[in-house]
Amino acid sequence: MADEFSAVETFIKDFIHKENQARRAKYLEPSATDALAKIHEANAAYENPIVSTGITRTSDLSPDEIKKYAATGNGYKPRSLFRISAYTHPKYGTLYYCIVGASTPDTPTAYAEAFVVGRTTAAISIEGDKLKGSHLRILAQYRLCDDCNGAGCGQCGDTGWTHKLGLKISAPGKPAGNRLIERPGNATHQADWDSRKS
Ligand SMILES: [Zn+2]
Repeated sequence: MADEFSAVETFIKDFIHKENQARRAKYLEPSATDALAKIHEANAAYENPIVSTGITRTSDLSPDEIKKYAATGNGYKPRSLFRISAYTHPKYGTLYYCIVGASTPDTPTAYAEAFVVGRTTAAISIEGDKLKGSHLRILAQYRLCDDCNGAGCGQCGDTGWTHKLGLKISAPGKPAGNRLIERPGNATHQADWDSRKS
């Protein structure tokens, strides 16, 4: 499992970099063609291209527009990667929940989203079958529950997370290990992170 954690960490760090490049390009890249190339690179990390970063770009930007959008574009930073937690799902096999911060990071840093990564070659339309294959892809995205800050409440079915995109994984299965990367600055999330030290 150590090797697979390393593969997932490399994959999600590469995605975080590409997602940041795509968000910046939306506001700072003069050419729509060049911006779209960066957006497509980031979207390719998702299993289903319809379910992706959601970043769009339609036309070239004038120098005045780039000046106007500069603060927004430069406000995007690569997300923090706090931890990766593995679960053994009864249908989908091993799923890796990559817990990350926001794309415009808060101070102190805090959990914001979970990218669920698995290995697959097939399209998401096979939902219900066990996912097989050799390609790491983002299968789903969850966001931290606004109502409970991850503690678990009635709004999120006591999981601390709400579904945003992709596969709906109602029961992730048995926890099968954690890789701790960056400790969050938010006190509540620090307690969660610390509780996962082995
Ligand atoms: Zn909640």
